Amino acid sequence: DQIEFIKASVMDGVKVFQRLSSSALLIFHLWLDERKTLPIYPYREELLKAVKEYQVLVIVGETGSGKTTQIPQYLHEAGYAEHGKIGCTQPRRVAAMSVAARVSQEMGVKLGLEVGYSVRFEECTSAKTVVKYLTDGMLLQEFLREPNLASYSVVMVDEAHERTLSTDILFGLLKASINSFNLFKDISRSRSDLKLLISSATLDAVKFSDYFNSAPIFKIPGRRFPVDIHYTKAPEPDYLDAAVVTVLQIHVTQPLGDILVFLPGQEEIESAAEVLKHRTRGLGSKIAELVICPIYGNLPTDLQVKIFEPTPEGARKVVLATNIAETSLTIDGIKYVVDPGFSKVKSYNPRTAMDSLLVNPITKASAMQRAGRSGRTGPGKCFRLYTAHNYHADMEDNIVPEIQRTNLASVVLTLKNLGIRDLVHFDFMDPPPSEALLKALELLFALGALNSVGEPTLLGKRMAAFPLDLMLSKMVLASEKYKCSEEIITIAAMLDVGDSIFYRPKDKQVLADNAKMNFHTGNVGDHIALLKVYCSWKETNFSTQWCYENFIQVRSMKRARDIRDQLERQLERFGIELTSNADDLEAVKKAITSGFFPNSAELQKFGSYRTVKSRQTVHIHPSSGLAQVLPRWVIYHGLVLTTKEYMRQVTELSPKWLVEIAPHYYQQKDVENPGAKNLPRGQGRATRG
Ligand code: ADP
Ligand code: MG
Repeated sequence: DQIEFIKASVMDGVKVFQRLSSSALLIFHLWLDERKTLPIYPYREELLKAVKEYQVLVIVGETGSGKTTQIPQYLHEAGYAEHGKIGCTQPRRVAAMSVAARVSQEMGVKLGLEVGYSVRFEECTSAKTVVKYLTDGMLLQEFLREPNLASYSVVMVDEAHERTLSTDILFGLLKASINSFNLFKDISRSRSDLKLLISSATLDAVKFSDYFNSAPIFKIPGRRFPVDIHYTKAPEPDYLDAAVVTVLQIHVTQPLGDILVFLPGQEEIESAAEVLKHRTRGLGSKIAELVICPIYGNLPTDLQVKIFEPTPEGARKVVLATNIAETSLTIDGIKYVVDPGFSKVKSYNPRTAMDSLLVNPITKASAMQRAGRSGRTGPGKCFRLYTAHNYHADMEDNIVPEIQRTNLASVVLTLKNLGIRDLVHFDFMDPPPSEALLKALELLFALGALNSVGEPTLLGKRMAAFPLDLMLSKMVLASEKYKCSEEIITIAAMLDVGDSIFYRPKDKQVLADNAKMNFHTGNVGDHIALLKVYCSWKETNFSTQWCYENFIQVRSMKRARDIRDQLERQLERFGIELTSNADDLEAVKKAITSGFFPNSAELQKFGSYRTVKSRQTVHIHPSSGLAQVLPRWVIYHGLVLTTKEYMRQVTELSPKWLVEIAPHYYQQKDVENPGAKNLPRGQGRATRG
């Protein structure tokens, strides 16, 4: 019946088969066999029938049933790619990349040709691409270029249960573009031909169905084996240590089978990996080998594939993962799950306009998903590192949608650019707090992205087209005025890469710190230090050796270089000339201030700071080059809340720049207070504009 299936597929319109050589066809047979074992396979025909019949379909199926990898292929085989692309969104970039790689293998084509992916700063597609995996954020960007998504025949919004901000906004836009009435002033026709699939791993699909005018729900029955759940008797004081100990106990006492450990982030994963490596060394040759595989958002592509490689005979694999392994990625062969019960959650306080990324207890829904990962291919065990009482009494049932707990400035700008004027009446599945909408509009207005009647300015249009955080985009665009775009795009790229530039191994901390201080000579501030790091690396012709010697992470630098290249191209597209002004650090700092002026703070007694506008008490992060210097006025890249509220990436500022650069935002009195009386009077307004 394999041959029958191939024949049927060819009849369906898959012309790829005919072009294959016989050896490739053999591989195909193997893939087909494997594809046929997935729980979704028996529902292939029924699913295709439903897609044909209904414009919108909600699909529910347990993680690992084959939704993400198979449905786009079924649609392709059924000919849907003849009139446009089949797009499938993912909340996470790693998931988009890894699934695209898998599907290209299954289809026997080179990644980037018929099957491709598109994530921020990385496009792996071509004119041939018909099956495209992309992050929800990227599809949102595509809406700006193509407001009716004319190049798509099907859009599948996958992992809908995650309710990320971009997914929620996509819901609203997609709903508007398939309905006969029209929200957008500039879309002349609605897409009655666009097929929309909403797929979710959890059962509360009724909400999606209700929202999309009672769209039918297609259920894919999962196969699940029983999972034995163990709780701890008492709360664990140190979950990371408890996780490591549990892994070792499983390894020493339990039959072979891989382990999946859920940890909040990269830092926790790396430190757990280090400890595990260290402690397994002493176990002796009687104990099986333990293969340690980390997986998190920023993990380089070549290491991502490692988690899918089969475990060597007689060994055991332990996957240390973030939330990504909860529903986005399925790793076969997992028999044991270790769940400390935490994840990193972004939250936003609209009152103080403060974003924070905090380690929080997970929800009951997450705990269930995590446990389920161990029972996919046989009976499993889940070790919860919290008490049964914790689970029942302290955990929320479901996660609050991101739209209700995040900074909305960026999506508001996107919606405004799509011509949506009335945000209050926009059809959100769950509306954001009106205070957050208001704050977003305020910030956009302050940055000059919206004019006084709330329409996007030229600057606002350009900012929306940049795949960067709003304030970074503003900084980059402002560099034109200060003739320092070369320097600013370097700084923007380095800031975008984040905290992983400097490397600080435990046994060489002093050496690493000294190397880092070299870039801070003259107390130039963290932004300029990042610029110096990049320029020095460039002078060595991007030498890896140089990175080792200076305790700099090569991978992060390469990523910064890629991002920088893209920013350069984007500026060229706008016709903005690249100019260098390396000797004028004041110009560079003014360009930074143009983007980040809302993030200014003044020194208080005892080394703390107070933000100028929101009047919050904050501190310079110990990792900053200015942590010991404590300049009177500073501008910062962002805040993090750990033990205190910390400013990260800090640069000294002259307060008169605030009034000069943002006269609509700061008045002279904001930067004048008892301590500031000795500032020359009236300096601030000199160059208004
Ligand atoms: P769902 O979307 O329903 O959770 P998927 O389509 O992601 O299911 O997974 C189906 C199967 O494909 C799983 O057995 C999974 O292990 C496998 N798979 C998915 N992505 C990869 C990958 N990048 N490498 C290897 N196997 C993969
Ligand atoms: Mg999936």
